[in-house]
Amino acid sequence: MIKAWRVLRELVRGAAITARHFFVNMTFHTLRLFGIRTRRRGAVTIQYPEVQKALSPRHHSLHRIRPRPDGKPSCVACMLCVTVCPSECLYVEAAEDPDPEVQKLPAKFVVDLNRCCFCGFCVEACPVDAIRMDTGEIRLASLTRAGLEVPLDKP
Ligand code: SF4
Ligand code: SF4
Repeated sequence: MIKAWRVLRELVRGAAITARHFFVNMTFHTLRLFGIRTRRRGAVTIQYPEVQKALSPRHHSLHRIRPRPDGKPSCVACMLCVTVCPSECLYVEAAEDPDPEVQKLPAKFVVDLNRCCFCGFCVEACPVDAIRMDTGEIRLASLTRAGLEVPLDKP
């Protein structure tokens, strides 16, 4: 009997907390609707993934390699990003470019997102601004580890 009473008490307590949040949020939203600015804002529920929150311009999203005007990757396979990466998750294989103006290009450029910590060091280290993390894409899921080994050499 005491146990049932405790369960009931906790249920009522939970409902009271939910109701408190509901009315507090509704008050803030109503004040805002009438143009009254408050220091605190009402909580907003974003219907992810149908609706997505705008990312900050400085946000590190998934990687991309900037293409050159002729469509080839602008990476010159210098390996600086590979050297600086703290997670050792970049794999770059260099090849000769037929264009004599370009020394090298990546025959293979893979980022292993299983290990990447999104620090952005690779972007900072690149001397030709070839690698960027500005795709705005943050969805990252795969059923296999291999699915998160993403090739970047085809822009
Ligand atoms: S973001 Fe950081 S961890 Fe990820 S590939 Fe670049 S340097 Fe490596
Ligand atoms: S992405 Fe930049 S730092 Fe990395 S290998 Fe290519 S040119 Fe070098």
